[in-house]
Amino acid sequence: MTITPLMPVYPRCGVRPVRGEHCHLISEDGTRYLDFAAGIAVNLLGHSHPGLIGAIQRQAETLMHVSNLYGSPQGEKLAQRLVDNTFADTVFFTNSGAEAVEAAIKTARAYHQYQGNEDRYELITFNNAFHGRTMGTISASNQEKMHKGFAPLLPGFRYVEFNDLEGVKAAIGPHTAGFLVEPIQGEGGIREGSDEFMQGLRALADEHDLMLVLDEVQTGVARTGTFFAYEQYGIEPDIMAIAKGIGGGFPLGACLATEKAARGMTFGTHGSTYGGNPLGMAAGEAVLDVVLEPEFLEEVRAKGERIRARLEQFIGNYPELFESVRGRGLMLGLRMKVEPRPFMQHLRDNHHLLTVAAGDQTLRLLPPLVIGDAEIDEFFEKLSAGASDYKAPEAA
Ligand SMILES: *Cc1c(COP(=O)(O)O)cnc(C)c1O
Repeated sequence: MTITPLMPVYPRCGVRPVRGEHCHLISEDGTRYLDFAAGIAVNLLGHSHPGLIGAIQRQAETLMHVSNLYGSPQGEKLAQRLVDNTFADTVFFTNSGAEAVEAAIKTARAYHQYQGNEDRYELITFNNAFHGRTMGTISASNQEKMHKGFAPLLPGFRYVEFNDLEGVKAAIGPHTAGFLVEPIQGEGGIREGSDEFMQGLRALADEHDLMLVLDEVQTGVARTGTFFAYEQYGIEPDIMAIAKGIGGGFPLGACLATEKAARGMTFGTHGSTYGGNPLGMAAGEAVLDVVLEPEFLEEVRAKGERIRARLEQFIGNYPELFESVRGRGLMLGLRMKVEPRPFMQHLRDNHHLLTVAAGDQTLRLLPPLVIGDAEIDEFFEKLSAGASDYKAPEAA
């Protein structure tokens, strides 16, 4: 037998974390890494945050899991907080991002089908999007590398170029149910939706009675410097999928919707055994206790701007490696002139700095939102050292 006990779907690297301390990970062999990946935009509060640990410990001792057959005081409380602080009127809790997007897709389809429009089922989605790895969410992306081996895909998605409003207009037809879009594409390379594009989608949705569904799984929960990225576009969605940061490391996601958008989601239409369980709710509460503090978002924006300004200056020293700085808040990217993956590996293995490679030749920088000045300085020391001793591999 040659297959590993862990199904070999990830090309795992040699870093084997066994402990986390604030913005650092400690590997099995004792090496300390500065974590500018944060579980891919998950560990908003860093590692070993006392508030989050305490909340989970207390809840685990009190009540860990009950069925959704019963009333949920814990779920009502967290849902109310999300409702109070967003466009939404109602929330369905999930355990992951892909499940949140699945719930969002179902909500958008049900909106039309509840009104008897059985043939309005198609969501317009965007090239190089990432929405997760379930059958529905891979079907929602045009990325063939995620499709290979899994045919047939789910029908009901139509792909258009990101930021191409004219393309969207041309794609709207009798089957269109709405749009599913990341305001800033994460896996796709920290590509920002333009104001014109996002506001245009909102206007088209209003004009044609379509659902604007945002995937804020990566951009959400303060990552971009506002509670959700849509606020920066001056628009509101009808439906939104969130996950990653909301649990701070505990598996938690949610589908948020307006009352109007959720009209098809009636008794018995959807469910999840673990979705909204008390342990997850406690984690979500602990994250919001920090994130919704008045100064927190301001600090994220200020730190983001400081890092960004230093990055702009820094890349000028290495014009052969870097092209530009991208992103908002603490969802940042360096567009590179060389392949980002080997550079990411070099930073990791030789300078103990963790970052994430993404599409469109971009290196993602996603630090914990609680990062301090000392870690920012450490980041620039490691990045500078990494850039100055980097030898890009010969192109194949
Ligand atoms: C990570 C991600 C997902 C999928 O989340 P999982 O928790 O891995 O299922 C969906 N959409 C976006 C934008 C993401 O970044």
